[in-house]
Amino acid sequence: MKNPLLQTEGLPAFDAIRPEHVTPAVDELLARAAAALEHAVGPDVPADYDAMSAVLDVATERLSRAWGAVSHLNAVADTPALRAAYNDNLPKVTEFHTRLGADERLYAKYKAIAASPAAASLAPARRKALSNALRDFVLSGAELTGDAKRRFAAIQERSADLEQQYREHVLDATDGFSHLASTADLDGVPADVLQASAEAARADGHEGHKLTLHYPVYGPVMQYASNRGLRQALYTAYVTRASELGPAAQDNSTLMRELLTLRQEAARLLGHDNHASVSLVPKMARSMHQVHEFLQDLAARARPYAERDLAELSAFAESELGLHDLQAWDLAYASEKLKEARYAFSDQDVKRYFTEPTVLAGLFEIVQTVFEVTITPDQAPVWHDSVRVYRVERDGRLLAQFYLDPYARPGKQPGAWMDDVRVRWVRPGGALQTPVATLVCNYSAPVGSHPALLTHDDVITLFHEFGHGLHLMLTQVDDLGVSGLSGVEWDAVELPSQFMENFCWEWLVLQRLSAHVESGQSLPRALFDKMVAAKNFQSGLGTLRQVEFGLFDLRIHAEAGAAERVQQVLDEVRREVSVLNAPAFNRFQHSFTHIFAGGYAAGYYSYKWAEVLSADAWSAFEEAGPLSVATGRRLREEILEAGGSRSALENFVAFRGREPRIDALLRHQGMA
Ligand code: ZN
Repeated sequence: MKNPLLQTEGLPAFDAIRPEHVTPAVDELLARAAAALEHAVGPDVPADYDAMSAVLDVATERLSRAWGAVSHLNAVADTPALRAAYNDNLPKVTEFHTRLGADERLYAKYKAIAASPAAASLAPARRKALSNALRDFVLSGAELTGDAKRRFAAIQERSADLEQQYREHVLDATDGFSHLASTADLDGVPADVLQASAEAARADGHEGHKLTLHYPVYGPVMQYASNRGLRQALYTAYVTRASELGPAAQDNSTLMRELLTLRQEAARLLGHDNHASVSLVPKMARSMHQVHEFLQDLAARARPYAERDLAELSAFAESELGLHDLQAWDLAYASEKLKEARYAFSDQDVKRYFTEPTVLAGLFEIVQTVFEVTITPDQAPVWHDSVRVYRVERDGRLLAQFYLDPYARPGKQPGAWMDDVRVRWVRPGGALQTPVATLVCNYSAPVGSHPALLTHDDVITLFHEFGHGLHLMLTQVDDLGVSGLSGVEWDAVELPSQFMENFCWEWLVLQRLSAHVESGQSLPRALFDKMVAAKNFQSGLGTLRQVEFGLFDLRIHAEAGAAERVQQVLDEVRREVSVLNAPAFNRFQHSFTHIFAGGYAAGYYSYKWAEVLSADAWSAFEEAGPLSVATGRRLREEILEAGGSRSALENFVAFRGREPRIDALLRHQGMA
């Protein structure tokens, strides 16, 4: 029997891949990739871009595609056997890529390519791919020698271990708390949470309701429970997770200190002043100073709105809820009540208008119009009956294909995401490989004869992920390293996705996206107006919160000695930007996994940064009309098709005719 993971032609045989195929395929492809590495660094392969690519890229891309298929199935069709196969092979795959990234022989070869006379005549995209590769070698420590190299590698290994411990402590501290409440304690809490928490208590052999710090329980309790003492107890447990105020075995204090110290030391070895400086090298932001100014400017602009938000909330809490001294554990509760009082409409009512076939047809119509493509159903092996396949064409020419996996089901990870099955590449030898995407959502499957119904948030999420998909699928770049999302700066990668969300707030568009499940009527204007009014509820407070996180992250990775004074740095940032006083016992930093264990170190600002880009890009459509073909063509050609072949700033300027401005973001969020 042939192993489907070793198949090289066509789309993956998702219906035929079995757990027992994983290890033999990974072992074979890893062996080939390792042999290709040895061959590529040896004397038989000249220091020539195409020659290297034909040996090394072909082998590593094949490994990545096969491993990508395994990871994908692990995420959407998990079984114990598949998970075991995935976990068995993950360390081998990771180890190979780490080794590849820091191989000094390979680095020398790429430097020789860059220094050769032929380098001057490389096409711009390929020059960009080459310079990215050289940059990444340097950041991976390929330039270090002797003790420095050994120390750098040891730091990487120790850091990975500390990050994993940090994550586990947060997880264990979250799992370690439970509180048994009576039904009377839970006045106001939604019925589904009551039911789930009663079942959880019963499973432990108790009466009442088992409350935990997991978000599907913690979130609704903080939002809806009228019992103030209960909210205080849960809040206190939540914000002290993995800190010195809880069990010593889960305390992240020393881990944070060591991690920050190691990141600082690694930065010094690479010749940088601090980790923030290293983190910014491959990003769009040009300097720490620029990020700092950006965040402080945003804070100053949001502050009056945040003060207004807080004043309104305090007044409402006082007069309507009898809460005279608004505390941290009252904020979500009082906000929810204020929101209900002000914008009375139900998400459940809205949902009756977003029937899946109408939403999909509307999305495809927008994409076909604005980006001048056609989308039609296609055939390919799939991993579940509900998965659909489509092809994207222009003038009868195949541009890309994508899978849409819409519904939640057991064995499928929650959330929504876009991933690549393969990226656009003119392969050595000249054959064009067209890109293929997977778009995964998790909305509720259809019940009975009704089509599936989407909340407005589901619709926004679908458009968001489709934006990532367009970035992958519409690229016209031929080079593997810079086609589609490859090589796009981390702080700019959310531009197309957040851009697409804007369509979901356009009256003209929403009329076409909606058809009531019974009457077939499109969304009424009055309901739309309420949705728009609620959109920017407390946007001032929300913005300041993001700025607080971003500034804290930047400063602890930039300031000398910050490792020894994490709490003080956070307190200073809060005094500077926040309008809410966090309680003295708040230990938010002890569970800030984004920056301590999630790759966002000195990069948390990226969320807001990319929002500036996407809002400003959308403002071009506000000027020309949301379905403007000319503006769509410019966005497509200068940003989506160009991908990582130019810097994000060059792409943006080519599209907009100027550098990004913050005005559109502030206006869209009601802060102008
Ligand atoms: Zn995204």
